[in-house]
Amino acid sequence: MPVVAAIPRPNAPVELREVASPALEDNSALLDVELSEVCGTDVYLQQGKLQGVPYPLVPGHVSIGRLSKIRGDLRDAEGRRLIEGDRVTFLDVHRTCNSCWYCLVAKTTTRCPQRKVYGITYGLDDGLCGGWAEQIYIKPGTHCIRVDAEPETFMAGGCALPTALHAIERAEVKIGDTVLVLGSGPVGLSAIILALIGGALRVLCIGAPDHRLKAAVEAGATSVLNIETHNESERLAWVREQTSGRGADVTIEATGAPIAVVQAMRFTRDAGRVVIVGQYTDHGAVSPEAAFNPHLDLNKKHLDVRGCWGSDYSHFYRGVQIISDPKRAIPWAQMKLTRYNIENANAALAAVASGQVLKALIDPQVH
Ligand SMILES: [Zn+2]
Ligand SMILES: [Zn+2]
Repeated sequence: MPVVAAIPRPNAPVELREVASPALEDNSALLDVELSEVCGTDVYLQQGKLQGVPYPLVPGHVSIGRLSKIRGDLRDAEGRRLIEGDRVTFLDVHRTCNSCWYCLVAKTTTRCPQRKVYGITYGLDDGLCGGWAEQIYIKPGTHCIRVDAEPETFMAGGCALPTALHAIERAEVKIGDTVLVLGSGPVGLSAIILALIGGALRVLCIGAPDHRLKAAVEAGATSVLNIETHNESERLAWVREQTSGRGADVTIEATGAPIAVVQAMRFTRDAGRVVIVGQYTDHGAVSPEAAFNPHLDLNKKHLDVRGCWGSDYSHFYRGVQIISDPKRAIPWAQMKLTRYNIENANAALAAVASGQVLKALIDPQVH
């Protein structure tokens, strides 16, 4: 019986469980997990901060592994048949309906009310649906894709890569732009790399702690500033200093802190663009510190502020193509990863929550 690491209920430590292997439905498979990840969302899951989440729950929404058992026909989006032994990953979003108003009219499948996410809105009652496990059940209709990259390189991008790719797409970065990235966690780092791929001339990054800012420079950031040692007006002065007094052309907020949203607006030039991608968790009622002046911070600035929710197959697919290109993958391949076995999932969560590690991976096959 495969071993999984489950969050039994909000604010309880992760515990190991044995779960029976499922009987495979037609066109489904079992994936032997090689690596899964621990991201900020998993920290919030453990703290019970996400709505509509079924506990007990096995976290790990982006994973890579080998197909160990297939029943029926499993194909990728290009129609190629997947076979047992293939190294694959899969889009964590499942059951996008393609028949609701959001899918058909708004063409925004990330807001489809039918969608389910492995490791987040699928709980243990739905079967082996999280990556902190020896095996994942690939349900019928799950979008798998073969991965040629090394598992570690792929996981360095992990869930952050498609998220950041979506944000950069929303940002419509122009060739020669100066992009400001707020946050130096995994999404911020991938946003730096992708902004440069997307044509940015310079990328500024405000974040913390120092080891993450060092990683931001290694990812290609032109200049970085430590948020812990500079207050808001110092940060604004720093951004203006580097942008001929105007502010960034485009700002990507990838921090998780509500106050950063307002700062993103203030650090951006008039008629610039702001993309909010770091507010995946609801931090409660309107926070006074995140209040802004509608006249000065938004209307008069002629600012374009855009939200960015989740990612769809196109972001996931393009992310896998980029990470499978040895040259493009270099910034991710050199990121420092910290591996934990499944028994140490609580330590991994704590390390991510404190920002002590750049990126924590779960290796469920090593005990
Ligand atoms: Zn839909
Ligand atoms: Zn994630």
